[in-house]
Amino acid sequence: MEHAFSLVGKTAIVTGISRGLGKGMVLGLAKAGADIVGISVSNMQDTKEAVEQLGRKFYAIPADMSSSEEVERAANEAIESVGRIDILVNNAGIIRRSPAKDFSQEDWKEVLDMNLNAVFTMSSIIGNHMLEHQKGKIINIASMLSFQGGIRVPAYTVSKHGIAGLTKSLANEWSSQGVNVNAIAPGYMATDNTEALRKDPERSESILSRIPTKRWGNPSDLEGPVVFLASEASDYVTGHILCVDGGWMSS
Ligand code: NAD
Repeated sequence: MEHAFSLVGKTAIVTGISRGLGKGMVLGLAKAGADIVGISVSNMQDTKEAVEQLGRKFYAIPADMSSSEEVERAANEAIESVGRIDILVNNAGIIRRSPAKDFSQEDWKEVLDMNLNAVFTMSSIIGNHMLEHQKGKIINIASMLSFQGGIRVPAYTVSKHGIAGLTKSLANEWSSQGVNVNAIAPGYMATDNTEALRKDPERSESILSRIPTKRWGNPSDLEGPVVFLASEASDYVTGHILCVDGGWMSS
């Protein structure tokens, strides 16, 4: 059974890996044996050192994922530099909070460019590479707001609903050709993305009261789920959105 979950000899691209959930998933993939191509706008040194300490290779591609030119460049550089990509984790994402009536066009565009358009571009370039080899695993990072409306985050909600649709759409077209496309929907996780919520005593208490496990999630909570979806163990799982939410969706 261990073999089914092994990623030895595989290479994974993960976007947005300087901190938070991206860094957590990189560590899980590296522990399972994968080499890593990291794409991020900020410093990747800590993540690189952690991967190398696990005995895996790390290749850094600095890029701003809110720019379509940068995304295309990074995806092509990844293929050219490592030759074969087995796993793509589209993790990089941002959130902008403001009441819908005041939400700016600028924030709307930035969130959609990064959270949805960049995911389509990465999936398209790396997906075509995987289709040539008739093998690959694409894992998108969705959210509870792929299912719910959220509060004061209209662009984020739209982007994450879009991720759910894109995951199913690509899975329908590519799964028969060896490329599985799934998503992980993290619940409420303790990262920079949720700092504002955790600092607001009212919101924080209301969120915690609905989580059956009675705690915020941590980046390490995604290690097992991402390894499962990246490995042979999940070969018959595709078009699925796996909630890793401490039970939020069922409460
Ligand atoms: P985070 O803010 O802690 O980390 C975001 C990562 O993206 C960082 O490594 C950052 O360097 C990188 N990044 C930011 N802007 C970038 C840019 N322009 N180009 C390239 N990289 C950039 O956020 P997080 O909580 O770790 O979120 C990661 C993903 O998980 C996002 O897609 C987010 O929407 C999703 N998510 C988070 C939660 C949560 O509770 N934290 C819940 C559901 C989904």
